[in-house]
Parts: sequence; C-alpha cells; structure tokens
Amino acid sequence: MMLIDLHTHSAFSPDAEDGVQAMIDEALDRGVQVLAITDHCDCNFWETAPSDTVRDHEMYGARFYAKASISRVDDLKKIYRGRINLLCGTELGQPLQNTAAAEKIVSDKRLDFTIGSHHMNRGRDDFYWLEYEKMDSSEMVSLLDDYFEEVLEMCRWDRFDVLGHLTYPLRYITERGRISDVDMKRYDELIRQIFWTLIHNGKGIEINTSGLRQPIGKTLPDLEYVKLYYDMGGRILTVGSDAHKKGDICAGIAEGIAIAKQAGFTHLTYFEKHSPNYIQI
Ligand SMILES: [Zn+2]
Ligand SMILES: [Zn+2]
Repeated sequence: MMLIDLHTHSAFSPDAEDGVQAMIDEALDRGVQVLAITDHCDCNFWETAPSDTVRDHEMYGARFYAKASISRVDDLKKIYRGRINLLCGTELGQPLQNTAAAEKIVSDKRLDFTIGSHHMNRGRDDFYWLEYEKMDSSEMVSLLDDYFEEVLEMCRWDRFDVLGHLTYPLRYITERGRISDVDMKRYDELIRQIFWTLIHNGKGIEINTSGLRQPIGKTLPDLEYVKLYYDMGGRILTVGSDAHKKGDICAGIAEGIAIAKQAGFTHLTYFEKHSPNYIQI
C-alpha cells in the first residue's frame, strides 16, 4: 500500500511537538513515500498577541512561524531528494478573517500545497475552546449554521488546494457529549453547495484521520460525506493524519484509504506546486 500523509504539523506549529527533521526521519522509517508538512497559519493570529490575557495566546504571531516553517521545509527538500517526496505545505486557518495575511502566505512560490481550514467562526474562539455544556439547542444550531456558511464563503474565495477537516466542530461537540443535539440533515444543502463550489473551482477535500484517535471515532469528514462528494463528481481527494507529533504520522491512513475506496475513489491526489498528481489506490 502506498503510504502518504498530507497533513502534519512540526514544532513550527505552536501546538505541535517535534522538529521538521524528526518528523521526516520518522516518516522515512515508516516507509512513507509522500509527506507534506502543513504547519498552521491561522490568519486571524497573524500579528503578535494584543494582550497577555487573550485566549489562544500561543497561536498568535503566525507571520513568523508560518514563514519559518516554509523556509525550513523548502531547505530540507533538497537534502531529502530521492529518499522521500517531501511537500512544502501550510494549513491556512480562517483566511477570510485576515485576507491580506492569507494572500501573503498563499502567494509564496515555495509552497506545494495549501489546506484551507476553518477553526473558529468570526468573533468566536476556536471550536476547541467553546463551552458546549452551557449552550442551549438554538445556540448550537446557530454555531453550526455559521460554521458551514463561513466554510462555504472560504471555498468561494478559492485560494487553497483542499478543504481541511470538514465537520471539524463535531470533533469537540462529540467529546463534550452534545452530539445528540445536532441534526446534520439541516446542513445537507450547505454541504452540497460547499462540494459544488470546490468541484466547480477544481479544488478538493481531505479525509482527515485525526477523528479516529478521538472520541468521535470517525474521519473528518466521514464516509457519508466523502461519498456525497464523489457522487457529485469530486475527484480530488487527499488523506492526512493531522499528526501533531511524530508518533502520529500516518495514523489512520490505511482506514482513510479504505473509506476513499468505499466511497468510489480509485485515486488519491497530492500536489506539487499546486498541480495535482494522482496515485492509484
Ligand atoms: Zn486544522
Ligand atoms: Zn492540522
């Protein structure tokens, strides 16, 4: 089986552990053929933190660590050439919350691959931080309405290669015991619009396998949505572990590939300088 992991974080991401070289060496040990390092660039945290009391303080200053990651990975590509196909990526968070910053990063010529992600709605904390226990059902509905609408808006902006971890909030809603309050049928039309927009623009989605290591126990998105995307004509699909430490490189990738096949896919995609390459699965 082809080993590929297109969503990983090195210590250039404030919430990750291992240096880029340690990540690559681990991937080599595991026989990974294609590895993308996709450190965070949460665009709303582009500048340094305005005060010491703001939440997510550590994620501020993306303008420094996101560029540093790209430089380091680009340098290491030469060193590892012929041993592993190393791709220089970034996980662009909330690009529409600071479009000028997003444009600066995505226009970096060294990038092979950009994941477009949505970790927090406008004016809200990261879904990780929200207090679901205190929300009534109407707050929960409006939170998810905003999430899917803001994701759709990001897809229309179109300056990335694949949409990251669609259904991200469900990871935390499940963990905090509120998933039974969510009626996903409500979002069918918005999710169709998201897929239609991506397909129309020649962009793709990822199967993010991090959920398999968490209480949700499913990929983000899960088989139902991967199949819908395929049935609507989507053919650009990547798989990524979302590893934040070297021990998680390729975690769940075999299951992710099995889901891709179940949904109808015969190929996965990886990007070099934003051009898609297809590999048979
Ligand atoms: Zn993410
Ligand atoms: Zn990530």
